[in-house]
This record gives sequence, C-alpha cells and structure tokens, in this order.
Amino acid sequence: MAPITIIGGGLAGLTAAVACAETGAEVVVHEAHATLGGRARPAAAPWLAHVAGGTRSRDSAQPSGPAWGRDLPPPGPHALYTDGPHWSWLAERDLVGPVATIPLREVRGIRFHRGGRLRRTPPASVLPLLAHRSRRAPVDVDFHTWAAALHGEQAARAAAGLIGAVTYDSDPGRLSAAFVWGLLLRVTAPRAPAIRWVVGGWPVLVDRLAARARELGARIVTSSRVDALPEPPVIVATQLESARALLGDDALTWESGHCVLLDVGLVTTRRDAFVVADLDDAGFVQRVTGVDPTLAPAGHALVQADMPLKPGEPRAAALARLEHLLDLGFPRWRDRVVWRRSEFAAGRSGALDLPGSTWRDRPAVDRGDGVFLAGDLVAAPGMRGEVSLNSALHAARSATARAGAGVRIAG
Ligand SMILES: Cc1cc2nc3c(=O)[nH]c(=O)nc-3n(C[C@H](O)[C@H](O)[C@H](O)COP(=O)(O)OP(=O)(O)OC[C@H]3O[C@@H](n4cnc5c(N)ncnc54)[C@H](O)[C@@H]3O)c2cc1C
Repeated sequence: MAPITIIGGGLAGLTAAVACAETGAEVVVHEAHATLGGRARPAAAPWLAHVAGGTRSRDSAQPSGPAWGRDLPPPGPHALYTDGPHWSWLAERDLVGPVATIPLREVRGIRFHRGGRLRRTPPASVLPLLAHRSRRAPVDVDFHTWAAALHGEQAARAAAGLIGAVTYDSDPGRLSAAFVWGLLLRVTAPRAPAIRWVVGGWPVLVDRLAARARELGARIVTSSRVDALPEPPVIVATQLESARALLGDDALTWESGHCVLLDVGLVTTRRDAFVVADLDDAGFVQRVTGVDPTLAPAGHALVQADMPLKPGEPRAAALARLEHLLDLGFPRWRDRVVWRRSEFAAGRSGALDLPGSTWRDRPAVDRGDGVFLAGDLVAAPGMRGEVSLNSALHAARSATARAGAGVRIAG
C-alpha cells in the first residue's frame, strides 16, 4: 500500500490524517509551522483568541506564541454546528471534548444593530420571510433580489445582515439566494440551536485530532514546509493560495470574506452585551467568555469582533466602524482594555457562493493523478470550517482508495 502524504496540519489535514490512518494506511503529515492547527490556533495564553494569519494592524500587540506567520489565520470566535456530517464524524470518535452552549443568562445580552441603534429584537419585517422554511431559493439569483421580491427591501436587508456573523462579507445580499437561504435556515433554526463552542477553544479539537492520528500510527512533522508536490497519493490541505502555488494551477480561487478583526480583553462589567449582530453592515461582536470563561483570565472578558470591508474602504475606516459597535454594546470599553489585537483577514473565513454557483462548482477535491484537495474553499458542503472537514473526509476516501487500502471510509 502506497504511503499517503498530507500537506497542512490544520483541521482539514488532521481530519484527513485520522480518516486515512483508520484504514491502516501509512500517513505522513507535513505542517509548515512549528504548531499544528492553522486557523484554529489560539493567540498566546491567557487570551485564547483565535489567530487567523492575516495581516496584523500596527496597533496590535505581537502575539508571543510560537510560529506566528503571515499565512496563518486571523482572530475570531470559532463555533461548531451539530447539524451536519462533520459533527457526527467528530462525535463518533469522541474528538470534540466538552462543549458549551449559550447560557440562558446571556440570551438577554443579545443586541441587534439596526438603523444606527442597538435594539433587543430583530426587525419584525424579517419574521414572515423566516416563517416559510420549506421554501427553496434559486441558485442563479442574488439573495437580496429574491427576498426583496417576496417580502420587501427591509426584510431582505435585515435577513442578509443576520448572517453577517458567518459570511464576513459587507453585502451578503449579493450572494446566491440558495447559499444565503441555506445559511439563514441553519443559523435561525427554531429548535434548540445547533451551535456549540468547544470548551478551551478549537486548540482542544486540534490536540485531540492530532493525538488520535498519532495513536493510529500517522507521523506528523511540524516546521516542515513542502515546496513541491511529493509522490502520490497526496492530500493538499493548505489554504487555497498555497495549494495554487503547489499545484501550479491559477484556477484554484474562490470567493471569501474580507474583514477586519478585533479582539479585546476587558475588565468585566455586568452591563456588557453578549452579542451585537450588526444588521446594518454585517459586522458581528461576541463576548466569547459568555459561553466559555476559560478563554480569558478570571475577572476579564474576551470580546472578538469582525467588520467586513465595503468595496474600496480603507481598513482603518472599517476598524472605526467596528469600534463604534463596541462603544454601543460595551460601555466605556476603551478604559477597560487590558489586551488588544486587530488583524485584516482576506480569504480566510470560508467559502462564499455567488449567484450561479453552489459548493459543487468550487475547486474539485480530486485533481487527478492521485492529488486531492481539502480545505474551506473546496467543493464540499457545509459552512466555513465544516467545508474543511467534509472535503478532508472526501479526500481521505479517494486517497486511501488510490493507495490500495483494504478498509473503506464510510460516507
Ligand atoms: C475570524 C475567523 C473566524 C472563524 N470562525 C469560524 C467558526 O466559528 N466556525 C467555523 O466552522 N469556521 C470558522 N472559521 C473558519 C475556520 O477557521 C477555517 O475554515 C478552518 O480553520 C480552516 O482549516 P484548514 O485546515 O482548511 O486550513 P488552515 O487552518 O489554514 O490550515 C492549513 C495549514 O496548512 C499549512 N501549510 C500551508 N502551506 C503549507 C506548505 N507548503 N507546507 C506545509 N504546510 C503548509 C498552514 O501552516 C496551515 O497550518 C473562521 C475563520 C476566521 C478567519
């Protein structure tokens, strides 16, 4: 059986490593950085904000953790949804560990920024739209046009703003109606919300994945950048721009968000909001310690926020709009800051499908000749990191079949 090489030790690479090693295949993972996790790595303790590997702003403190690199991710709250195959795969293997849900006391702290003001409720205009949950939305029309024709401009705008938290795009209404509608149905699911946070953050998930891969015999080599494609079968589980260089294929591109990210550590007060969902500009602010207090030192809150850039907008202007959201939701936060970091993230927050395209049109997993792609801008279902996991499982199935493994990966 031919050994399988996996390039990249983020969620996609480690998932592929576990899935391949479970079949008995010989697996080697190469990770360019000294630490595993890619965009799921945290900043240095005690502030466990996620780093996204974007471009640091001048005002941000240099994280003191190891292996900080330009090609790694920016900060942001990382959640998992429990309503997809990625979750079943993780849960069956006990790879997630303890998770947190939104505590009831925090629900009162959810705010909606609309019409320039913070409000406690979303606009009533959005409710008729969300009531028709069995409706199918077209792929080839933008969400705004489709939703506005059904329920008016105001409802369309507010609904698009509601998924700013998962799209990182200044105008989610421009995206495919089918794509946005699918996200809205998941984000606003009426039963118990499917969203979960891994206690301790995604690094816990990364550690568990890596430990399982090693247990199954996979070799994981860090500080090992791969500059040329090794012998197949090979799974390229890097960011798409690195895959583009490795495969020498300029067609490997896909739409993704552009936003500024701001993480602040604050001395706690009881008047802070839990979430500010910005229905005006698709920004999002969350006091992540509201669900997981282990993410910051005692007596402090970790707030993670993002604001998508409008076309042509300077980063500083988007950052100022984001800081204004904090002014509204976190009284006197500027006087309470003890830690702060901001970043610019382009193409790091997952795939966005424009009108006329679905996930099936993204760069295919199977590149031919025993080369397979995995990552969050690749042809697999789900949102954001789920796409990395689902594409990794697809790539692992194909790579093990190519390697001649006797055991097949289900699914
Ligand atoms: C602010 C923000 C918030 C987010 N929030 C969420 C969320 O709540 N939920 C969610 O599901 N997703 C979220 N995401 C998306 C999620 O972080 C990513 O989709 C996921 O982490 C991507 O994992 P990956 O393994 O595909 O890629 P990466 O994490 O980028 O891993 C790729 C790895 O490949 C390595 N590499 C690159 N080139 C080479 C090379 N030549 N040789 C060897 N190694 C190489 C890199 O060092 C890196 O470790 C968020 C993203 C951002 C930016």
